[in-house]
Amino acid sequence: MSLNIVVLAKQVPDTHNVGADAMNADGTVNRAALPTVFNPEDLKALEMALRVKDSIKGAKVTVVTMGPPRAAEIIKDALSRGADDGFVLSDARFAGADTLATSYAISQAVKQLGQVDLIFGGRQAIDGDTAQVGPQVAEKLEIPQITYAEELMAIDNKSITIRRRLERGTEVVKAAMPVLVTVTSAGEDCRFPNAHRLIRQAKDEIRMINADSINADMDRLGLKGSPTKVKKIENVVLAHKESVVLEPTEAALNELSATLIKEHIL
Ligand SMILES: Cc1cc2nc3c(=O)[nH]c(=O)nc-3n(C[C@H](O)[C@H](O)[C@H](O)COP(=O)(O)OP(=O)(O)OC[C@H]3O[C@@H](n4cnc5c(N)ncnc54)[C@H](O)[C@@H]3O)c2cc1C
Repeated sequence: MSLNIVVLAKQVPDTHNVGADAMNADGTVNRAALPTVFNPEDLKALEMALRVKDSIKGAKVTVVTMGPPRAAEIIKDALSRGADDGFVLSDARFAGADTLATSYAISQAVKQLGQVDLIFGGRQAIDGDTAQVGPQVAEKLEIPQITYAEELMAIDNKSITIRRRLERGTEVVKAAMPVLVTVTSAGEDCRFPNAHRLIRQAKDEIRMINADSINADMDRLGLKGSPTKVKKIENVVLAHKESVVLEPTEAALNELSATLIKEHIL
């Protein structure tokens, strides 16, 4: 038996290169003005999946993304780094999805792939930042999950052993397959694209999968299936007047404590 591995990857705005036109006047994100990148933790997830593939003969890595057709760029990137296959879930009916609708669409797509042994995703995406999609996909597929993964410790055909981050330390967890793993930024950096692969698949068309192909309840997709409504996005900049300079004296510290207690901060 060989392993079927899925990697969940999201194309996100490059939040390290935010220009003056990054926000619309109404406070929403001007996605057209932002360059896009492979979500950083998803690259770490891809590397972990590729390490499993390196260890288990015949293992296959399929990368799944939901987004506009342009998201095919990250599938091509993943293929050039060593993934075997990938597709974009792309359809106007997926648009406006919150994490509930996103994880529903992704889990339905994964179900169409037949037996899947391992699913890797990033812990969180740098635009939405909720860290909910991975765990929700596991819930919908009714499989266990290992979150906050940092290192692949061991792998065989039936189980995976992972070192995961806790608040104060780490723990090593062994889980039977199928299992979903979310990887943090402490994971190994992803290997570079391979030149031969880049050239070979430069002209390849990446498959676009629409909502009709995933056996989905249309009411659970996109905006229609999303109970979350983002009312307003505000860019909060702390003004200088909000900072207080303290003298290094006991009296100043006592005064600070009294103020914090009075303001219900402590
Ligand atoms: C400013 C802002 C605020 C938002 N607030 C909310 C909110 O409060 N509640 C809410 O439900 N939604 C919210 N959203 C929508 C949210 O971005 C989408 O639901 C998004 O598709 C998934 O959530 P996330 O980005 O938080 O992903 P996360 O849950 O942080 O992603 C975790 C991992 O899941 C996988 N993954 C996530 N999205 C995809 C994808 N499209 N394709 C493939 N794999 C994926 C990746 O492996 C990723 O690393 C918000 C979006 C923005 C821009």
